[in-house]
Amino acid sequence: MRNLAEYRNIVGEEVISSIYRKARTLYGMKVMHINSTFYGGGVAELLNALVPLTNDAGVEADWRILRGTPDFFDITKKFHHGLQGDTINLSQIKKRLYQETSAVFSSYCHFDEDCVIIHDPQPLPLIRFFRKREPWVWRCHVDLSDPNPKLWEYLKGFILRYDMVVISSPKYRREDLPVFQRVIYPAIDPLSPKNMDLTDSTISKYLKKFGIPTDKPLITQVSRFDKWKDSAGVLDVYEIVRKKVDCRLVMCGSMAADDPEGQKVYEAIKRRANSLVKNGDVILITSENNILVNVLQRSSDVVVQKSAKEGFGLTVSEALWKSKPVVASDVGGIAHQIQDGENGFLLPPKDNQAFADCIVDLLKNPKLGEKVGVKARETVREKFVITRLLADWLDLLNDIMK
Ligand code: UDP
Repeated sequence: MRNLAEYRNIVGEEVISSIYRKARTLYGMKVMHINSTFYGGGVAELLNALVPLTNDAGVEADWRILRGTPDFFDITKKFHHGLQGDTINLSQIKKRLYQETSAVFSSYCHFDEDCVIIHDPQPLPLIRFFRKREPWVWRCHVDLSDPNPKLWEYLKGFILRYDMVVISSPKYRREDLPVFQRVIYPAIDPLSPKNMDLTDSTISKYLKKFGIPTDKPLITQVSRFDKWKDSAGVLDVYEIVRKKVDCRLVMCGSMAADDPEGQKVYEAIKRRANSLVKNGDVILITSENNILVNVLQRSSDVVVQKSAKEGFGLTVSEALWKSKPVVASDVGGIAHQIQDGENGFLLPPKDNQAFADCIVDLLKNPKLGEKVGVKARETVREKFVITRLLADWLDLLNDIMK
C-alpha cells in the first residue's frame, strides 16, 4: 500500500510531517467516499490515490461505488450536461429512476461512518435514504457556473440537506445556495502508474504495442470521448496544423462505466478522422491503460486539452507534471493550472486557428516547449500533488467535526 513517506523526495519532509500532524486530531474517525465508477474519468483517479493515503495518515477511509443500470447512467449523463448548462427534459420518469437507484443502494448498503462524502450528482440523493447521523459533504467535480435552472432547482432539494459543498474553483460558487461552499483543487498522484517515471524501454514497448510510430512529431489529447472535451475541434485544429508541419495526432479516450455516450461520440470522431486522413496519422485509442496514458503524455511534443468546459482537468496537471507544453482552453479549472505563456498556453476554446498557430510554433521551436515545461512541472509540485489534496481534506474534516 502506498504511504506518505514515499512522497518525501517530491514535496519535502515538512509537508509529510504536517499531514500527520493534521490527522492527529482525527484518530479513530471513519470517512466514507461514494461515487459511481471505480475507473475512467477524474473522480476515480482521485479516489484511487486519496483513499489509501488518508488511511496511511491515520483516518479510516472507505470507498463505495453506487451501482446503477444503463438507464440510470443515461439520465445522470444528461444531468451532468444539464449542470454544465445544457437544456434537459426533466420528466417525472427521469426523477423517479434517478432517486430509485439511491433508494435501492440504501437497502443493502450500511455504514457507521463519522462523515460521508458524496461525489458528483449520481449518488447525490442518497442523503434522503439514510438516517443522517453524521456530517455529509457533497463534492461536486463539475463546472457549476451556469447550470440549467430547472435541474438546479430539483437537485438543490438534495443539496440543501448537506453540511458542506466542495467545488473545484471559486468560479463555481453559487450565490443561490445557502450551504457552505469550500474550494478544493484536485491533484495528481506522481507515483501512480499514470504519472510515475518510466524507462525508455517501457516507453518504446508501449508505443510499439499500441501502433504509434515516432518518426513524426506527436500531438495528443487524452480525454473521454465527450462533447465537452471537443474531440471534433481537436481534429479541426490538427487539419490546420498538418498543412504546416507533418505530424501525428493521438486521441486517447477510454470508456468510463458511468459514461454511456462515449461510444457514440467515439464512432462519430472515427468517421471524421477516416475521412480526413487516409495515412493513419490520426490514431484513436479506447483502451483503459494508465501506463499507456503516461507513455503518450511523455512521448508527445505538444499536449492539447481543447475542452469547452472543464471542472478541473486532471489531464492538464498530468501533462504539466511530465514537463510538456500544454495548449489548452481557457475554461473552468484549467485556468487555475496554466498561466498563459509561463507554464503552458491558454486560448479561447473555440479559436481553432489560435490553437493551430500555437501548436505549429511549438513544433517548429521545441526550445519554447522545453522552457515552459520546466515551469509546468514546478507548478504541479507546488500546487497539484496529492499530498496537498489530502492536507485540504484533513483540514476540512477537522473543521466539520468541531
Ligand atoms: N483518462 C484515462 N484514459 C483515457 C482518458 C482519460 O486514464 O483514455 C484519465 C485521465 O488521465 C485523467 C482522467 O481520466 O486522469 C480524466 O480526468 P479529467 O479531470 O481530466 O476529466 P474528467 O474525465 O473527469 O471529465
